[in-house]
Amino acid sequence: MNSKSIYLADLTHTGIVLSSNVFPLSIGLIAAYIKEHRNDITKCELFKYPEDFSQALEKRPPDIVGFANYSWNFAISCAYAKQIKLRWPETIIVFGGPNYGLATDEIKIFWEKYGDFIDFHIVKEGEEAFLKLFDTLCEFNFDIGKIKKNEINLGNVHYLGKKGIIIGESLPRIKLEDLPSPYLKGLMDKFFDGNLCPLIHTTRGCPFKCAFCTEGAEYYNKVYQRLDNLEEELRYIAKKVKGQKDLFISDANFGMFKQDKDKAEILAKCQEDYGYPKYIHVSTGKNQKERVLEVVQSLNGAVSMAASLQSTDTNVLENVGRSNISIEKLVDAGKKATTQNTGTYSELILGLPGDTFEKHKQSLRDTINMQFDNIRMYQLILLPQTQLNSPENRIKYGMQTRLRIIPRSFGEYKLCNEKFIAVEREEILISSNTLTHKDYVKARELDLTVEMLHNGGGHAEVRGVCNVYGLSWFDDIIIPFFENRRNFSPEISQIFDKFVEGTSDRLWNNEEDLEKDVAQNISEMLLDDRGTNEMSTGKATAFFQQFSQINSTVFLLLKNALEKRRLLNTTLVKYLDELERYSRLRKINFLEFDKNIVDSFSIDLECLEKHKYVITPDQIKLPKSKKFELLHSNKQQSLIKQYSKEFGFNFDGLGKMLMRYPHIHNLFRKSQAIA
Ligand code: SF4
Repeated sequence: MNSKSIYLADLTHTGIVLSSNVFPLSIGLIAAYIKEHRNDITKCELFKYPEDFSQALEKRPPDIVGFANYSWNFAISCAYAKQIKLRWPETIIVFGGPNYGLATDEIKIFWEKYGDFIDFHIVKEGEEAFLKLFDTLCEFNFDIGKIKKNEINLGNVHYLGKKGIIIGESLPRIKLEDLPSPYLKGLMDKFFDGNLCPLIHTTRGCPFKCAFCTEGAEYYNKVYQRLDNLEEELRYIAKKVKGQKDLFISDANFGMFKQDKDKAEILAKCQEDYGYPKYIHVSTGKNQKERVLEVVQSLNGAVSMAASLQSTDTNVLENVGRSNISIEKLVDAGKKATTQNTGTYSELILGLPGDTFEKHKQSLRDTINMQFDNIRMYQLILLPQTQLNSPENRIKYGMQTRLRIIPRSFGEYKLCNEKFIAVEREEILISSNTLTHKDYVKARELDLTVEMLHNGGGHAEVRGVCNVYGLSWFDDIIIPFFENRRNFSPEISQIFDKFVEGTSDRLWNNEEDLEKDVAQNISEMLLDDRGTNEMSTGKATAFFQQFSQINSTVFLLLKNALEKRRLLNTTLVKYLDELERYSRLRKINFLEFDKNIVDSFSIDLECLEKHKYVITPDQIKLPKSKKFELLHSNKQQSLIKQYSKEFGFNFDGLGKMLMRYPHIHNLFRKSQAIA
């Protein structure tokens, strides 16, 4: 048999900036499995960028194209699949991934809508299913008409047969030791381009049953561990990686299992030998927090400890099947991680069943008081294959939803000189029987306030003073800022007005209307570097355009709170004025490192930084004013250069950078006394 060519595509949008900047691991694993078992009769190529994919298709259309189906690339994959079927009808189109509903109605609607250009859809794990499908295609000489006629049962595969939809039986779960490494097979070499970050897997599955998550399904509840060739793979990556030293790990509970200590040891050894990975993006475990903490601490600050609470309200957590995750233990470990300087974050979802504005506010108060450095705040997305996304639950919780464009996930592409548009969308909850739409919008504005003031540590100086004088950072500063957000200045007011516009206006009732609007406005959308993520735009505006004003406002609120408690005196006012000036000079135009900032201060700035701003003014008072230079270290300069390359200098890229890197405060200028 002639060798068959297979293109596997896990596409990212490139319209404004890269919407996904990680290596396409899922298709890499499938390609490695095919190469391991059918190397003699196949040639696999992998694609991430649409432009490369178009070029390859134009040059040599393959026998099979496999598309990874995620919510963030389904539309672009469909747009390509349609074009391919039109030009090369013999090419077989296979989709596979979690963005495919498994309820009878969802399956029916999917095949009615997409059956003209998708031949097969793989559900659940894909490696063995793809191999079996390939073997069946060979057996039937690539005549899919015959497969459809014979209604062949293909494990983990759905397709439209002659008489209806054929649903293949479920295959047993794959053992990870049976999966070869796509890196070691050289399949990922082309992606080491300095723009994409390597992604590896260390486990598959999750023991928890969260109703809003795909991995909460029973099929994924058994966790399979990976140990084979991890060390070899990491060393391979470390030698090849360009650009920033980040590593993404696909693992729902890193550090929770006993095998994770061995994995952490391998990672730490790699750090020692190659200085890589510097930052590891991974979800840490929800239970066994002592072990998670130990694992995190062994990785030299590369991993941020997560406490993915989603809500701190017991009733809300019960409604989504998370009552078996202990809040106390998560929080305790989070606090320990804070003291160990590993960086911590928590996650909250607005609008879970039973959620209200007050409960969400309390969840924010709790997580901020628990000292998490960053709070990641999400809206509830109704995902296929999740328990929450059922007609019964929609009625039970009175869920009102709308479609929105997935941030940065749209663009205009070209194949054989024909242009086409693709835009990704997701279904988000905008109200429920416990959360009115008005309260939903208000809660989102509070989220923006937390994003602007708390996340990233842009106002750590004020937070430090709150700690020293027994004030509450949340109730004395963040909440008054939120409540008066439209009273401070037109510029601050406008940040919130634009945010509300983005939250409420860019929503659609159905896919047709959304696509029509995007088609009419695509040119402006591609030129508008403010992007489609209102949270990141709001944060970037607050940070890059209105920092001085917000900084002064936050200091004013601090003075008011101190005054109310009769703690303010002339010395303290003078100190706060100096602190405000210092805070501004550290961060203003902070991506410019050729500026020579020199100013006089009567406080010891170096000592202030050493104590992370938790120090009384008299402890750092200098006998007489001294000159300090505020500057970026060489290390900071090189990080800024790397980030600028990754995210670009446009507004959307800057916002993405602020949201993506919780340790952004490490890039603020530091002081140096001038002798
Ligand atoms: S949300 Fe996290 S813990 Fe819950 S099922 Fe999904 S992966 Fe597991």
